Amino acid sequence: MRPARALIDLSALRHNYRLARRLGGGKALAVVKADAYGHGAVRCAQALQGEADGFAVACIEEALALREAGISAPILLLEGFFEASELPLLIQHELWCVLHSQWQIDALEAAATSAYMSGKRLKVWLKMDTGMHRLGLSPGEYATVWQRLAAMAHVQLMVAMSHFARADEPDCPRTAEQAASFVDSVQLLAGAAGPALSLSNSPALLAWPQLRNDWARPGLMLYGASPLAGDDVRASQLQPVMTLESRVIAVRTLDAGEPIGYGGRFVTDQPTRVGVVAMGYADGYPQFAPNGTPVSIDGRNGCVIGRVSMDMLTVDLSDHPQAGVGSVVRLWGEGAPTAAQLAAQCGTSAYQLLCGLKRVPRVYLGG
Ligand SMILES: *Cc1c(COP(=O)(O)O)cnc(C)c1O
Repeated sequence: MRPARALIDLSALRHNYRLARRLGGGKALAVVKADAYGHGAVRCAQALQGEADGFAVACIEEALALREAGISAPILLLEGFFEASELPLLIQHELWCVLHSQWQIDALEAAATSAYMSGKRLKVWLKMDTGMHRLGLSPGEYATVWQRLAAMAHVQLMVAMSHFARADEPDCPRTAEQAASFVDSVQLLAGAAGPALSLSNSPALLAWPQLRNDWARPGLMLYGASPLAGDDVRASQLQPVMTLESRVIAVRTLDAGEPIGYGGRFVTDQPTRVGVVAMGYADGYPQFAPNGTPVSIDGRNGCVIGRVSMDMLTVDLSDHPQAGVGSVVRLWGEGAPTAAQLAAQCGTSAYQLLCGLKRVPRVYLGG
């Protein structure tokens, strides 16, 4: 069997969820879209059952996969429905729905008299665009739409939400401006206490923990990766959930002046012992990881040399005389560079690295 595998530590996932929830100060939906950022949505949701206040996904397909696996907790569709024909399934499976555009509100209003709606209420979150400029109603039109939804008997308005564009930049004033615009606009809404609020994603929970959240929406941090560039006291409490590892499958010693791999990107400047590892870009390891990208080899620091190929990569074993065929090479995670550190070296993000995991079987630990 090919030795490449991703170890998924579910107790670290629960630890990170608890940290996120504490920072948010209220409830927290565990964001498990994109197959839980490459970690396996069903297994992650099962591991958080009974602990998480609910889950959030990108689309009904992802939500139904969780329901089919027996997840009965609330599930929020972060982009709501893509077409009105999804509404009967939203009702049937008691899914929560973000509304971000007028066309969705029109479609929902038109569904008021549908047979599947009779006696039922769709639980909705209404999204405000406070500066991300991707989805949501403008602050100026928000209150009007809120009142319109509040008047629909088949709708239960739950939460006012917005999303940050630059919460991963602790010195950027944009986040405070977005939060202020949001709070000002929701104050206009009816109700003594006002609606429940949802603002923070992972970078906001870590860098702006003072923000009020009745419902936080942590994603990346659940998986133990920090979205913040520098060191951070709160982010340092996260535990990596995924460890990507494989083994050395061949070893050769080259003379000085020999190129390694495609393009001859690395040329030995001295006699060099080279290990070939069963891990490549088809598994999600970055193809353009530069020479010197850190890995761990049998628990000791080592590095990649030569260009990463589809199924294999090469590491320098010159300083690892004990290592040979069968040695364990960790690419990221526990006892290896973090996904965020590797991403920074390779000009990508921890989000993309984790979501990009492919082909490698996942092995779950900490049930
Ligand atoms: C993906 C997503 C999140 C989670 O973001 P992270 O940065 O991974 O924590 C939160 N809210 C919305 C609307 C999202 O789309």
